[in-house]
Amino acid sequence: MWRDLGRIGLDPGSGGYRRYAWTGADRDCREWFRAQAEARGLTHETDRNGNQWAWLGDPLAGDAVVTGSHLDSVPDGGAFDGPLGVVSSFAALDELRRRGAEFTKPFAITNFGDEEGARFGLACVGSRLAAGQLTVEGAHRLRDGDGVSLPQAMEAAGHDPDALGPDPERLARIGAFVELHVEQGRALDLSGDPVGVASAIWPHGRWRFDFRGEANHAGTTRLADRRDPMPTYAETVLAARREAELAGGLATFGKVAVEPNGVNAIPSLVRGWLDSRAADQATLDTVVAGVERAAREHAERAGIDLTVVRESFTPVVEFQHALRDELCRLLGRSGPGPSGRAVPVLGTGAGHDAGILSASVPTAMLFVRNPTGISHSPAEHAAEDDCAAGVRALADVLEGLACS
Ligand SMILES: [Zn+2]
Repeated sequence: MWRDLGRIGLDPGSGGYRRYAWTGADRDCREWFRAQAEARGLTHETDRNGNQWAWLGDPLAGDAVVTGSHLDSVPDGGAFDGPLGVVSSFAALDELRRRGAEFTKPFAITNFGDEEGARFGLACVGSRLAAGQLTVEGAHRLRDGDGVSLPQAMEAAGHDPDALGPDPERLARIGAFVELHVEQGRALDLSGDPVGVASAIWPHGRWRFDFRGEANHAGTTRLADRRDPMPTYAETVLAARREAELAGGLATFGKVAVEPNGVNAIPSLVRGWLDSRAADQATLDTVVAGVERAAREHAERAGIDLTVVRESFTPVVEFQHALRDELCRLLGRSGPGPSGRAVPVLGTGAGHDAGILSASVPTAMLFVRNPTGISHSPAEHAAEDDCAAGVRALADVLEGLACS
């Protein structure tokens, strides 16, 4: 599977993947998924929101056990974020058939569309639409960098955009959804475990900081006469790092826009985007309030106007405790010693389709060790042995949930 999939959307220059929603690379990934489904005798369908489903058993019977992930990527993404979950799903089905397991419930493998949001700027579009967390009007407003709307892009790819909309009947037929994903951090590397179970997705959000000063000549304006927003922005970046360290959260200024953006011009505007995440809401609030307070103090001292706008926010997602505990029970204990070690349970700062679906469906996640923790980069990696351990763990879970 990796040999065929690994070629699709690979950029030879960067060594990273460029699989954006409703492009040629996305179409090739979808054809790969369909071929894998058909090769295993599964019934393939694409739902109204462009998510792919490969069914074993009657999709309409209800209480289905579903597993899968996504095949799209961020710009120059790694090979594993998304595809590991889809490949492992097909491999886990193969493993269950080798074991002679009999399915007592309908079973499906999914590829959720446009998870990364690389083209239209919003993550998890396919699952958000299905779960009613993105309205049809909201989806119609999405535009890519060339001004192409989501419906136009879908239509160009041969998918009917008029069908977009919430899909509660489909979700109501799912009894459990399990997503396997490469870990995007080093918790498993540090604990020495190949596979872990997710506890929660951290609350996270994006805030836009606009620092407004006065554009002027870099060579003729005395320092005392300047209203330069750049030093104030710089102080704010340092404050974000400090506040995150103090509170035990994460804070990142990873995107900045400067006007007029000239080498010899004092900026009139510096616009920076803060991404902040933490294990709990109180910590996140502490970090963001601390960054904003520092920004306001520095801005006031320098005569800079500051506005802060929260552009997006996602509260904590706690995966269903009963299903999470069931996964831990099914995976049992491993390692040396008479009782061995329980499978680790860990939180994550990254968003996933499983997080979106958890509002409608009992949902759980498995993570596979990523030795460097690097993700959203060509350097993203998981060892072959760990990927195999992930397949076995997923097969154990699916056997416990869906088989006699
Ligand atoms: Zn992912």
